[in-house]
Amino acid sequence: MKTIILEQPGRFTCSDTPFPAPPGAGEALVRVHRVGICGTDISGYLGKMPFFQYPRIPGHELGVEVLEVSPDVVNVKPGDRCSVEPYMNCGRCIACRKGAGNCCATLKVIGVMIDGGMRERFLIRADKLHPSPKLSFDQLALVETLAIGCHANQRGNAQRGENVLIIGAGPIGLATLEFVRLTGAKTIVLDVDEHRLRFCRDVMKADEILLLSDSTEADLRSATDGNLPDVVIDATGSNKSMSAAFGYVAPTGRLVFVGITTGEVTFKHPVFHRPEGTLLCSRNALPQDFTRIIKLIEDGRIDTGPWITHRATCETMIDQFPRFFDPSEKCIKAMIEFSNESTDHGSADTRSASS
Ligand SMILES: [Zn+2]
Ligand SMILES: [Zn+2]
Repeated sequence: MKTIILEQPGRFTCSDTPFPAPPGAGEALVRVHRVGICGTDISGYLGKMPFFQYPRIPGHELGVEVLEVSPDVVNVKPGDRCSVEPYMNCGRCIACRKGAGNCCATLKVIGVMIDGGMRERFLIRADKLHPSPKLSFDQLALVETLAIGCHANQRGNAQRGENVLIIGAGPIGLATLEFVRLTGAKTIVLDVDEHRLRFCRDVMKADEILLLSDSTEADLRSATDGNLPDVVIDATGSNKSMSAAFGYVAPTGRLVFVGITTGEVTFKHPVFHRPEGTLLCSRNALPQDFTRIIKLIEDGRIDTGPWITHRATCETMIDQFPRFFDPSEKCIKAMIEFSNESTDHGSADTRSASS
């Protein structure tokens, strides 16, 4: 079967690998229909992702179809179309016992620390499959991206009437915006790129957009009746931005880091002590985030239409891949099509966005 392998930074191969064995206890055999490309895959390709090991089959944003399940599996059945929660947690450590498998002490994310879904079929723990009879495979593959934003918003706990600043209008920032908007809070997006900001305002319905400048703090005050934002969510992964974000928080406010950096984040303590700020990190997402997002898309409360800007097949993706992070391409989400079977239907299939 066709399998994409990231052999080392900068080099994918398309190999022929054997089909998997039948599912063992608790497992499902799935056929891969869609694989979304995200910053993690790009960092792995560029050799900038510290958790990435090579060679690796990438792919953690997946829309799959169940082909076969072990007799003990009850949550899914053959024919079900599913989103995949790619975080393989142990179930025993302190985090797992507290219901926080997203930060399990020995967490293995498929496509990053263990092999992922860029192959025709693979075996996965059935409890990591989230089925929907309504969503298209494109939408199912988008659920994981959205889940990162859903969890970040949960961490910030924005309330109706509060002011929320999202820093960084890349896919994680956009995903976060979707869920902050649903709280009824006022949304403000800060970025360095005017095109992305206009997209946030015109398509993603952000209440206000701000271009980063020397007067950012003053701009934030004027957007918030002089108070600064109650919640600041930094989705840049830039240590410079994350360090500056301490200065943007209103009294009693919360600062959430959803992006990740290996650089040092520093701040002058009084800047954050004065407002009695709370710092939170947001890592991955929880199973209940997947359930909630699937329902929100099914109910039409989240429109996945604007998300997919680029498409490739498993045959063309190796050549196309550098386009997905070329700034001039303005890629939001690239989707790899592993199959085009008749089961690929769905109300919001965004083929027209193909580039
Ligand atoms: Zn991702
Ligand atoms: Zn654990």
